[in-house]
Amino acid sequence: MPLFDIERARQETPGSQHVLHLNNAGSSLMPQVVLEATVAHLQLEAQIGGYEAAEQQQAAFEHAYDAAAALINASRDEIAFIENATRAWDMAFYSLPFKAGDRILTSMSEYASNYIAYLQVTRRTGAVVEAIPDDAYGQVSVEALRNMLDERVKLISITHVPTSGGLVNPIVEIGKVARAANILYLVDACQSVGQMPIDVEKIGCDMLSTTGRKYLRGPRGTGFLYVRRALLEQTEPVFLDLHAATWTSRDSYEMRKDARRFETWETNYAGKLGLAKAIDYAMDWGLDTIWRRIKELSYSLRSQLSPLPGVIVHDRGITQCGIVTFTVDGVDPAEIKRQLAAQQINVSVAVRTSTLLDMEARGLHTMVRASIHYYNTVEELTRFSAAIAQLAEL
Ligand SMILES: *Cc1c(COP(=O)(O)O)cnc(C)c1O
Repeated sequence: MPLFDIERARQETPGSQHVLHLNNAGSSLMPQVVLEATVAHLQLEAQIGGYEAAEQQQAAFEHAYDAAAALINASRDEIAFIENATRAWDMAFYSLPFKAGDRILTSMSEYASNYIAYLQVTRRTGAVVEAIPDDAYGQVSVEALRNMLDERVKLISITHVPTSGGLVNPIVEIGKVARAANILYLVDACQSVGQMPIDVEKIGCDMLSTTGRKYLRGPRGTGFLYVRRALLEQTEPVFLDLHAATWTSRDSYEMRKDARRFETWETNYAGKLGLAKAIDYAMDWGLDTIWRRIKELSYSLRSQLSPLPGVIVHDRGITQCGIVTFTVDGVDPAEIKRQLAAQQINVSVAVRTSTLLDMEARGLHTMVRASIHYYNTVEELTRFSAAIAQLAEL
């Protein structure tokens, strides 16, 4: 197996010279090529005009659909670019018709924005939302899911990798259950796309959303939605504009046939080109290579942190990803974040209100979140662990 070319990864990541960045689940450091593609388009807009720049770069914008489709094994007409994962997910979720008595099944580690949307829609429609219990490893229990199924279940909606830890939910196994029962299946893959291989055919999902700035290393304010072609034709987006549909007469409009019916006309063009570049760049490394490297580094960090007195690593699941969460006895995670920032080390704090069901069930309020990417080094993790050891002694 070839060694990972860490020197190349560092050279092509200008930020890695300035900070020890373990906030990749928040917003990763952009590679130089992504920065250049984004800035170049802004410059072109300034020089020749925004509409004219879009026309001139039309082939590159069309390529964005091929890139996103290739990344997740979809077709280009199943991809919509949307400004973030939340709105991408919303466009899918809010477009589904629910009625009183319908059941929505979700995961314990569901992201706050998704759960708020369930609450809003269930209040409006009389549908209900229920969390599938975890198994002994803290993953969605596929067996419990099977036992919950009946004809009232209209949607299975799962967060693949939660914002609050190393857990990777068994979305392929869940997909088999969803398909066998012919139930719509929505996957929030915000933290997993760019971190590990994602294949919508293997997953068997009908809709999947992700963001640009996290593990894909794209610019902020970017994301995309996948909608399976068979579902596309039956789904009218909750919002339509003159890009999503054409106004054909005084009392009619025609929707686009492809997933771009979920987009809006106006968008961040520079960001979209930057995201397309970030996707190409990730595929150039190879998602298998990226995933193997992230797993190695995160296992190494967990095994350095676990033995430290007062430190508890909280990650669950059989396979654990690059998001490492922990607490230090007697030290507020926000204080740890501040102390690390003074040493040019970036982490974030996972708070209860982001994944309320899970954090409540585990009796947790806040945790330090150190999220690793492939461009992080073994030396950085050693330095990080030493900094935590020092804070733990205070
Ligand atoms: C960050 C995150 C989101 C939201 O993504 P945005 O691009 O900020 O809208 C959704 N789900 C999960 C699991 C996340 O971690």
